[in-house]
Amino acid sequence: MKEQGLLLIVSGPSGAGKGTVVEALLARGGYALSISATTRPPRPYEQEGVHYFFQTEKEFEDMVQADGFLEHAAFCGHHYGTPKNYVLQQMAQGKHVILEIEVQGAFQVKEKYPEAVLLFLAPPSLAELKKRLEGRGTEDAQTIAARLRRAQEEMALVEKYDYLVVNSQVEDAVADIEAILRAEKRRCIRQKEFLQHFREGQEGLC
Ligand code: 5GP
Repeated sequence: MKEQGLLLIVSGPSGAGKGTVVEALLARGGYALSISATTRPPRPYEQEGVHYFFQTEKEFEDMVQADGFLEHAAFCGHHYGTPKNYVLQQMAQGKHVILEIEVQGAFQVKEKYPEAVLLFLAPPSLAELKKRLEGRGTEDAQTIAARLRRAQEEMALVEKYDYLVVNSQVEDAVADIEAILRAEKRRCIRQKEFLQHFREGQEGLC
């Protein structure tokens, strides 16, 4: 039987560099990225089914009713949700599945799947975050201000996460995450099958 992959939640303020870090992880192989559904309008460069599944409020609500989401949450006036089936399939195939989601969703997942790894990616400072958001040029001043406020609220919840990685250099953040997952795989709690095999083997030998 294939070893089940890990469920890795990556949260952090928009502008923390989650997209870049996740892209670098995907390039290494062995990872799958969950594509979320959202009611937010697409940014100019965003593609349907690549960055998000863009949905109407009605489509989103129907999916909630059909229990199609692993978790869902509201963020700055829009809804976001993780389609359940893809995540479960990929984990069963041994891939580490990455959910790039905000804090409320992360806590919902942890409640349903306590074995999920919760990782918070932070920018080096609030000033740097502001600079990155302004440099991106995809949001107006009001939206940037709302996202900075939200970033501070999110940072206040970091201690409920399993890991905090500061994204000063992308390569360093990626190396940290790989080390974390490697160690997570070695936790005794995740090696029940191996331990079971040992117990059964001993019975046969005595
Ligand atoms: P953005 O609008 O910048 O793409 O995303 C806003 C926030 O929503 C980010 O923190 C992002 O990680 C989060 N997000 C994206 N997809 C999901 C999702 O499926 N569920 C939840 N709870 N948050 C999401």
